[in-house]
Amino acid sequence: MRFKVMSALCFAAAATLAAAVPAHAEWVNRVTDGIMGTRITVELWSDERAKAEAAIDAVLDEMRHIDESMSTYKPTSEVSLVNAKAADGPMHISKELFDLLVKAKEYSVITDGAFDITYASVGYMYNFPKHIRPDEAQIAKALPAVDYRHVILDANNQTVRFSQKGVRIDLGGIAKGYSVDCGIDVLKARGFTRAYVSAGGDSRIIGDRFGKPWMVGIRDPRKGEGEVIASVPLVDAAISTSGDYERFFDEGGVRYHHIIDPHTGHSASKVRSATVIGPYATRTDGLSKTAFVLGPEKAMEIYNRIDDIDAIIVKLDGTVIYSKGMQRGKATPPPPAP
Ligand code: ADP
Ligand code: MG
Repeated sequence: MRFKVMSALCFAAAATLAAAVPAHAEWVNRVTDGIMGTRITVELWSDERAKAEAAIDAVLDEMRHIDESMSTYKPTSEVSLVNAKAADGPMHISKELFDLLVKAKEYSVITDGAFDITYASVGYMYNFPKHIRPDEAQIAKALPAVDYRHVILDANNQTVRFSQKGVRIDLGGIAKGYSVDCGIDVLKARGFTRAYVSAGGDSRIIGDRFGKPWMVGIRDPRKGEGEVIASVPLVDAAISTSGDYERFFDEGGVRYHHIIDPHTGHSASKVRSATVIGPYATRTDGLSKTAFVLGPEKAMEIYNRIDDIDAIIVKLDGTVIYSKGMQRGKATPPPPAP
């Protein structure tokens, strides 16, 4: 069955269910805007409506908590406090934030520094909705503070320290994926075995749709939300798409958008979109920005080296390339236009 794909990572529910399913069981779906500045979708199979609604409430509570502690838009968040104080000396932080900072550094190493949460040392000067960007002098001044090695983590004391002034971190490139994984954990703990959770461009699925996979559409980066370049069948997997069409403005023929090259401080524009498929959304989120910074060939080399992930990249000329794992059973192309 083909599902109508609504946006990069959205999907429409299948209507057909297996005959063995109890009559009162159903798919329960909720879409919520405004947490982490994005759209959250939760869909799950449940034999009791009230239980499903309570579980979705719990997923959203978990995401609100992550937003409260990790958003740089909130001056009281733990991450904002780290940005204000960690250059002064070691700062004790929550286990949750510490563990995510460890993961973020791991992805910096895997991606040859393309993923780097200290991008924010320059990145904080961009405001895409307001078409504001730093000039060359501002970038040059701030750029030495961009380097994940400036973030010093001490596991024994659970502290973080910045090795110099001017360093800022932003978890916008990994927190949504992380929140999706936390949401899935909430559902698993409550016994759900078939569910979909997404936050913006990051999604994760547990189970299947009664013998059928979930179909996740990858948006065509230069077309409207409903236009897809491929639909990927997924069971028990996470998928993240990064695109240059998410938050951007065009000026003088240049597209300024929200993925920043840590080496230059400019928007990283070597591809139009990159999709990574893997076991966890934290991981697929952390890896989906790489292609923008390193370019399609180098990024695909890295993606192909990592056993548990696959990738689909839309190059600047609009051509699509797939990782080795996907070439065995390529993503289904969209149906021809009617
Ligand atoms: P979404 O926010 O829709 O999930 P992405 O997964 O593509 O989109 O993440 C983009 C975000 O990643 C940016 O808004 C910014 O917060 C952060 N970011 C930008 N450049 C980098 C980078 N080089 N390394 C790590 N994070 C980055
Ligand atoms: Mg993301």
